[in-house]
Amino acid sequence: ERLTMETLVAGLNPQQREAVLHEGPPVLVVAGAGSGKTRVLTRRIAYLVAQRNVHPGSILAITFTNKAAAEMRGRVQELVGNRAKLMWVSTFHSACVRILRAEIHRFNLTRTFSIYDDADSKRLMQLVAHDLSLDPKRYPVRAILNWVSTCKNELVDHESARSRVNTELEENYLAAYQEYQRRLTAANALDFDDLIMTTVHLMQAFPELREQYRRRFRHVLVDEYQDTNHAQYALIRELCSAEVDGGQVGDEVTVDPPELMVVGDSDQSIYAFRGATIRNINDFESDFPGAAVIMLEQNYRSTQTILSAANAVIVKNEGRKPKRLWSDSGDGEAIVGYVADTEHDEASFVAREIDALRDAGRARYADCAVFYRTNAQSRPFEEVFIRLGLPYKVVGGVRFYERREVRDAIAYLRAIANRADDVSVRRILNVPKRGIGDRAEEAVEALAARERISFGEALRRIDDVTGLAPRSAKQLIGFADFLDEHEAMVAEGVPADQILTSVLQKSGYLAELQSSTDPQDQTRLENLVELVAVAREFVAGAIGGGAGADALDSLLADDGVLVGAGLDPQLRAEALEQATEDGELDLGAGAPEPDASLGAFLERVALVADSDQIPPPPGVEDEGVVTLMTLHTAKGLEFDTVFLTGLEDGVFPHQRALTSMSELEEERRLAYVGVTRARKRLYVSRAVVRAAWGAPQHNPASRFLAEIPDRLLDWRRTEQATTSWRSTSATRQVQERWKERVGFGARPKVRTVPNVAAGDRVLHTTFGMGTVIATTGSGDDTKADVDFGSAGVKRLSLRHAPLEKL
Ligand code: ATP
Ligand code: MG
Repeated sequence: ERLTMETLVAGLNPQQREAVLHEGPPVLVVAGAGSGKTRVLTRRIAYLVAQRNVHPGSILAITFTNKAAAEMRGRVQELVGNRAKLMWVSTFHSACVRILRAEIHRFNLTRTFSIYDDADSKRLMQLVAHDLSLDPKRYPVRAILNWVSTCKNELVDHESARSRVNTELEENYLAAYQEYQRRLTAANALDFDDLIMTTVHLMQAFPELREQYRRRFRHVLVDEYQDTNHAQYALIRELCSAEVDGGQVGDEVTVDPPELMVVGDSDQSIYAFRGATIRNINDFESDFPGAAVIMLEQNYRSTQTILSAANAVIVKNEGRKPKRLWSDSGDGEAIVGYVADTEHDEASFVAREIDALRDAGRARYADCAVFYRTNAQSRPFEEVFIRLGLPYKVVGGVRFYERREVRDAIAYLRAIANRADDVSVRRILNVPKRGIGDRAEEAVEALAARERISFGEALRRIDDVTGLAPRSAKQLIGFADFLDEHEAMVAEGVPADQILTSVLQKSGYLAELQSSTDPQDQTRLENLVELVAVAREFVAGAIGGGAGADALDSLLADDGVLVGAGLDPQLRAEALEQATEDGELDLGAGAPEPDASLGAFLERVALVADSDQIPPPPGVEDEGVVTLMTLHTAKGLEFDTVFLTGLEDGVFPHQRALTSMSELEEERRLAYVGVTRARKRLYVSRAVVRAAWGAPQHNPASRFLAEIPDRLLDWRRTEQATTSWRSTSATRQVQERWKERVGFGARPKVRTVPNVAAGDRVLHTTFGMGTVIATTGSGDDTKADVDFGSAGVKRLSLRHAPLEKL
């Protein structure tokens, strides 16, 4: 039965209703936080399907995270049933991957291409910079990658990038870009930024392709439009514009543009460092002539007190359009302020407060979130929460998929799925140790370079490799056979989980961990068991539970979707694919195979984003866990109780932003995002002394704290209450610990060499948190290469470096 109009627009205010019902020209919904933008988008999709008879397969909705996509799909499904599954609801990246898998052969890559994440890109760029003899001091890999990323976000490929080169520095950036891209292509791989740029370039190079997708997507909806970058904007234009950009002769749009709705808030634009530009929102009306603009003004999320605080902060940004945002949910509780002596003290306060709220029956763990500016700040909270037994989850930070053993396993799978993927093949060449040394690796590399083939390909021709010791040759052949054997399994359609299990066993990886006495290896083993479970779940979901032979039709018919005559064959094929993927259908012989393949699994793994790890909402018995995350990850979410921590100048706003007006304004938008996540209760806190980055630092209060009117605040503890920071015992402790760590404590301690291995996280008093890439030497002479993120990669002597294993 069709949903009635009343149900679909129930509980919407007039502006929201207008947005849901809007027909025709492109429409922009601009509104402050918590005004129901995402809700409007979701309701509109339900309305399109239920009232306007739009086929779900012709809807493309773009969300910021996979998690948000799943939620949106779930909510539409509640409203319109199973046919919701036929929609494309996904992130830009996932949507592009889907298009690329079908079309990328036109650009001479194959559909099994690998997706390089940040860590892979970095590794590849390191190789490139090394081979081009770029001085790492002048050309930190991060800086080169940023340059490349900026180019790609602006759709400048490695050939046209020449036009941006003016200095010697840029000359070398360009050389690195070109070589990096050459190797990516040779590896049949794309990095994250390529996913978008390549899709746009495909549409531009093949107008008939653009037409095809325009015919298919009749409705395009985009959430968080303020955080789209130029490439993403260009993609929307390719799909939705009434005119064609840079059109060639005969290159005309023959298909009417689909209906477009974008929603966003320029005050919440927080990804400028990734190329996002509020230009896209500000220029929407000129980009899409005839566009309608709808503004929402009522906030349904927060109390008036919280809203007033948010408004007081954001008005300090210049040149923004003023917004009226109001709430009728009453003033609610005052904002609680707290000045702590140290970051440990701040963490204890937060933990005590959560416990108190819970004891009073006013909050469950899952209703509470702790926000901070950078990932590294989670540590004191974790320490205290563990000590007090408070259940929590850190979103972001060292993610499951970044752990060494998980990356190794994934590298195995990628090497098997895509032999040309040099970074992956070389990563596992001698992991676990199988006697293939650097010399042997270089010899194979030499053959690959000489013959212009991939490293993996060269492994098939060991006889041609010169200068190999017979033992190395034997090992290499064994390794190549191992890859071949598993490649054959992929070709036979063996599901991903079975391939993974086989790889872990036959490579000797499991055996090595099992025989180890290092307690960390036990954890590694557990992580791999977890990965196998993930793969198993994926395969089960893909193959799914028996809906019968013409299941698709009955599925669609069940939901009252037009089946048969009215349905475009392409849409039907797509529907079939989607339903199969989602485990709705168990198709008999002759039907397309459900995608439990290794390639599909790798894709799922590659596109997991930070905010996808947010714990699920609690069930009836279950009260969930406290969520710890950075402000960036919190976008779009809401919690009853929010702790906004580390409000110190130099921490938040970030040190970097203190000297730049535009960066400071971006930090202020981040503060606005943070404050507006809270429904009922907001806490703002800072620590007078913070040692998270090595030497204890005395930080002044954040200017954002001062921007919140005092009348809204209830100070539990002020700076006056803290004794002079120099004399507090907590501070002294922090300083003593630090002195001891760096080795000039009162009583010189015999320093032990920390036992670290590649993949471990460490804390250095100057460089901050880092990840060990590799170690060399042994005993007192052990040296470690540590990646400190923005501080670069450092080679450190473990005996002398002021460094702790985390
Ligand atoms: P953000 O800018 O943070 O992404 P948003 O504008 O997308 O916020 P939503 O998340 O859609 O806002 O809505 C905020 C909250 O208000 C949600 O809990 C939503 O269910 C609720 N809400 C939105 N509109 C209404 C309404 N008309 N009546 C009642 N509740 C509403
Ligand atoms: Mg939203």
